[in-house]
Amino acid sequence: MTDISMNADQLVKLDRECMWHHIIQHKIFDAVEPTIMVEGKGCMVKDVHGREYLDGLSGGVWCINVGYGEDRVSDAIHRQLKKLPYYAGSAGNPPSILMAKKLTELMPYLQRVFISNSGSEANEKAFKISRQYNRLKGKDKYKIIYRERDYHGTTFAAMSATGQPERIMGYEPLLPGFYGIPPVYCYRCSLGKTYPGCDIACARALEKLILAEGPDTVASVILEPITAGGGIIVPVDEYFNVIQEICKKYDVLLIMDEVVNGFGRTGKMFGHQHWDVKPDMLTTAKGIASSYMPLSVTMATNDIFKVFLNDPGDTLAYFRDISTYGGCAAACAGALENIKIIEDSKLCENSEKMGSYLMEGLKEFESLPFVGQVRGKGLFVGIELVEDKKTKAPVSEGLAGKVVAAVKEKGVLIGKMNRSISGYNNVLTMAPPLIIKKDEIDRIVTAVKYALEKCRI
Ligand code: PMP
Repeated sequence: MTDISMNADQLVKLDRECMWHHIIQHKIFDAVEPTIMVEGKGCMVKDVHGREYLDGLSGGVWCINVGYGEDRVSDAIHRQLKKLPYYAGSAGNPPSILMAKKLTELMPYLQRVFISNSGSEANEKAFKISRQYNRLKGKDKYKIIYRERDYHGTTFAAMSATGQPERIMGYEPLLPGFYGIPPVYCYRCSLGKTYPGCDIACARALEKLILAEGPDTVASVILEPITAGGGIIVPVDEYFNVIQEICKKYDVLLIMDEVVNGFGRTGKMFGHQHWDVKPDMLTTAKGIASSYMPLSVTMATNDIFKVFLNDPGDTLAYFRDISTYGGCAAACAGALENIKIIEDSKLCENSEKMGSYLMEGLKEFESLPFVGQVRGKGLFVGIELVEDKKTKAPVSEGLAGKVVAAVKEKGVLIGKMNRSISGYNNVLTMAPPLIIKKDEIDRIVTAVKYALEKCRI
């Protein structure tokens, strides 16, 4: 039963019998075989039947940044596993210390690194730090503001900070103390405005909300630099200046969620580095070790950290948080090597260059009647499909899925957003490994063209 070399049919049968897959209606497996991947090299993955695909999704959820089969990462992990696989609690180990040092060099404005396992968990820590930090300073600032359409994770606080009702419905009640501001989504401005005449009202909504809730009660605001799962939405250039100014004015900590954006995905090492903004805290995961191991971090300034040192006695005034696997030595060793590869091989530059090339190829499809907008930054691109370009009405349910299936026929994997409750979130997504080359981009564009034509878009 434990033989992973068993044949394809046996594995498919067992998958159908035992697995409960993430974020999918299992009924689909009555008609469609579950996908089972068995190996990968570079940008290519092979499924259990031996079919090869160009992975335009970096492992399904945008995280294999250096590609598959990168021996430098797996060897670093293996070496560390043999030397010291694990020792955690309140202790450190050389790879975690060196990784922390490296991250603070990449972002000198953030000097402390707290290590955990997943993006959701990293955000939980950020929320806890932002609340306790304020309480240690004698303030009861506890409210947390998020942006509609942003996603911050699956755990309850992270979900309470998530602006996608489709991820929440059925799991309520959420936690109290979380409040949303409008998305920075010019294609469908929820405030009915048009850029640039809008005075960035979606960012200024933050100030209105802080004033309405009471500045003395608001601890932090969490934002993705570029909204990922909510539709690959790139903010306008002025956005973060306005946000940062408001945060400073009301002593609200700015938390940047770089779980997807981080490590070259958008053409810079971190997404927020496209703009002149310095977060007080930052969370990241996925690309940090290219997901060869689970790993996430929560970073903070020394100004925040120092407040946790002001213990006047035995008051438990320190960050009383622990994750058993936080600081896993092997994961951190993998991350260190992964970051070195991103730097040595200039993968941020490649992400920017190949991303522009991909965008150029896909932009042509904007002339098609059902392609509303092609958008993105670096190797992170989305195509929003609409029934009608004028009304921007959503395409019928299932069409995005048909396009993805048609792209797959051509041996290329791309993704789509899950349907949103408001119906419009029909966005095709592309986020290939950062090592991708021009001819592979051509293959993606050709496959998307074939699929859009086949599905009559
Ligand atoms: N933040 C963002 C922006 C994400 O996209 C995700 C996951 N896709 C998370 C947080 C949660 O990460 P995880 O799934 O590792 O908990």
